[in-house]
This record gives sequence, structure tokens and C-alpha cells, in this order.
Amino acid sequence: DSDISVATSHSSKTSLLIKNTARDPRFKKDSFLPAESSIITVPLIVFGSVSAVAKISSSIPDRLNESDLRTCEMIIRSSAIALENINLFSRINELAMKDALTGLFTHRVFQDRLDAEILTSGRTKQPFSLIITDIDHFKKYNDTYGHQAGDEVLRKAAIFFNSSLREIDICARYGGEEFAMIIPQTDLIAAASIAEKLRTGLAEIEFIFSGQKTGISASFGVACFPKDASTKSQLIRASDERLYKAKKNGRNMVQYE
Ligand code: GH3
Ligand code: MG
Ligand code: MG
Repeated sequence: DSDISVATSHSSKTSLLIKNTARDPRFKKDSFLPAESSIITVPLIVFGSVSAVAKISSSIPDRLNESDLRTCEMIIRSSAIALENINLFSRINELAMKDALTGLFTHRVFQDRLDAEILTSGRTKQPFSLIITDIDHFKKYNDTYGHQAGDEVLRKAAIFFNSSLREIDICARYGGEEFAMIIPQTDLIAAASIAEKLRTGLAEIEFIFSGQKTGISASFGVACFPKDASTKSQLIRASDERLYKAKKNGRNMVQYE
């Protein structure tokens, strides 16, 4: 004989018990549906604000009492705690997955996604590529312009890389001034040209500190699965070796063989 509903338009933070709408002098009869004779409303308060209101109503006058109100409040309060926990959990998860300085995925997420991409590629028989990049002479940059300036460069470089890539690509902070990018469904030559675009784009960015124009460059190593490797560690090693080669050959370049 009772009806339970959840509405989000109500904003009062207190519960309400109306035993009999016909008899309750605080409320006008026409505020309620004709069939509602006995009503309980309990706000669902999540992190201090009302996110929904549960309403229990009955067509039978005096059907609901104080004990029903307490039961409803208990149920709704547990729901609110569960919702707060879900929210906290997803925030903590987000913090654990994203690097604090750059907002890119962490090394750990990168490793997991690389595992997943190897499985996907093995199944679909579509190649994918890995780009690892390292900023050139970054120690000197920090020494010259300060660590704060260095941090700002890392943040902007991260935004540039991430926004230059597609939605399906994974861009992670691999280490201090190193970034790793997983490029699905892309062969070596196509990935090398993406890396080349990133290299030239990064070198063109002007970073201005105390009125002074500064710039950086980076070196890139590109490798492709399954052409260059049949396991995750082999693929990382292949990209790393090519990155090292780019450093050795003069920096600010892309190596893919
Ligand atoms: P190379 O061209 O051979 O890569 O030279 P490099 O100076 O970039 O390489 P090295 O590994 O010698 O130095 C890396 C520098 O990156 C040293 C370290 O202080 C700096 N670095 C690492 N992480 C951060 C960071 O989060 N913020 C800042 N500002 N600097 C960082
Ligand atoms: Mg480095
Ligand atoms: Mg470096």
C-alpha cells in the first residue's frame, strides 16, 4: 500500500513525517497527490549537499509513524555513505593513475596498457608502435633557468604530446623527463612520422621565463610490435636502444632502426 520514489528537486536537509495529510495543519492538502495520505521524505545528503530525496507515501492515513521515519533515515544514510565511498574510491584511483605534475598516466598504468595492447595486437594481427622520448640536456635547462621553470616545461611538453595524439593513444610520464606513448594500429613508418611531428612541434614551442625566450628539444626512439619485438620487455628495449642512438647521434632526432 505504500509507494517509494526518489526526487531530486527538493533541497531541504531535514526529513519529514506527515502522518495524515488531511489532519496536518502545517501543510496544505493540495501540495500532495490525492492518493498521498501519509508521507515520509528523507534527503540523501552526499558530501554535505542534498543529491536526492526519497519519498515514501501511503494512501492509508496514519500508516507511517516515527519508527518508519527512523528506518528510512537509516537506510538512506547507509546509501549516502556508500555513494561517498564510491566517489572517494574513484578520486583515489584517479590520483594513483595520473602523474601529479603532468596529469599524464603513470609508469604503472603505462606498463598495464602495454600488456593489454600486446594481447589486442596479437589477437587482431594489427601492429602497434611504442615511442619513448627524453628531453635533451634537461639537467642544464634546470641549472640555467631553475627547477620551477623545468617543471613548467615538463607540464607544457606533456600537454603538447597528449593533445597531439589521438584519443586511443596512451601518453605516459615514463620517468623524470621521459615520456612513453603507445600508438595502437600503427606500423613503424607511420609511428616514426608521428614522432617526427612531435619532435618538430616541441622544438617550436617558446617557453618564456622572466621575459626570456627559451626552448627545448627531445630525442625519440620508435619501435613496432610485432616487427621489432615479440614481448613487452623486448619492445621497450628496442625503443630505448633507438632513443639512446638518437642521443648519441646528436639529439633532437627520431630513430626507428
Ligand atoms: P640528455 O640529453 O642526455 O637526456 O641529458 P639530460 O640532462 O636531459 O639527462 P640527465 O638524465 O642527465 O638529466 C635529467 C634531468 O632531468 C635531471 C633532473 O634534475 C631533471 N628532472 C627529472 N625530473 C624532473 C622534474 O620533475 N622536474 C624538473 N624540473 N626536472 C626534472
Ligand atoms: Mg632521462
Ligand atoms: Mg634527458
